[in-house]
Amino acid sequence: LTQERVRASKLESLGVLAGGIAHDFNNVLTAVVGNIALARSDETLSRETATWLEEAERACLRARTLTHQLLTFSRGGDPVKRPMHIGPLVDATVRFAVSGSNVRCSVEVAPDMWAVDADEGQIEQVVHNIVLNAKQAMPRGGQVHVSCGNARLSPGLDMPGAVRQFVRISIRDQGVGIPPEHLERIFDPYFTTKPSGTGLGLAVSHAVIKNHGGLLQAESSIGTGTVFHILLPRSIKRVAPVPSAPTVAIPHGKGRVLV
Ligand code: ADP
Repeated sequence: LTQERVRASKLESLGVLAGGIAHDFNNVLTAVVGNIALARSDETLSRETATWLEEAERACLRARTLTHQLLTFSRGGDPVKRPMHIGPLVDATVRFAVSGSNVRCSVEVAPDMWAVDADEGQIEQVVHNIVLNAKQAMPRGGQVHVSCGNARLSPGLDMPGAVRQFVRISIRDQGVGIPPEHLERIFDPYFTTKPSGTGLGLAVSHAVIKNHGGLLQAESSIGTGTVFHILLPRSIKRVAPVPSAPTVAIPHGKGRVLV
């Protein structure tokens, strides 16, 4: 509980900061990145100058990731939710996140999946953050497997009350894994093991899912990989079913693999 409180107060100060500067800073960055791109297209550049520009561009892209996380967080306190079927959004986000890399993905969506009340942009960012981490955990390539379905959870420590109905999105990688002493810190703001990491992706994701009334959990074992479970409460509203997607394979007769 104390850990939760520390995390919440760190995120609160982050939110104040974010609201104040992230938006303006993002506009400044867009101008800088645009001008660097123009300068790099000059064919008369020396090799040395081209390298400097490339480094400047990389630094800007990292700063942009940072502001993006800050912006999501500053909005994270106040999700604009609508009842929806989340399968197609998850599918598209995962595919986009691995595109052009040496990481493959498979996305399985249970056909009877319940609807949830979600802020699309925020959930997209959470899925994107988790898949990017998965990619980075597999520098030599591998597979990200995502499965979406329904889950009934019994009351527990982090969720008192009656049995509740959730939609579960599980994102599994075959990466390096997370040692137990890190696993308890991965959702802390600024915790990172990467030389140029921000340590904000999972902290922001955790806050977003909590603000949706859900849970974000991780399990990991060294050498085998990591799985993140996003749990979002079932919507009490009725939503029209998703139009059926092309069916490629039905694993064990219980799901649909979208391509
Ligand atoms: P960042 O990616 O900037 O470090 P995150 O909050 O997204 O920030 O992640 C925090 C830390 O959690 C990472 O630095 C890494 O040590 C660990 N981590 C997160 N996802 C994974 C994963 N799929 N495999 C291994 N380690 C992970």
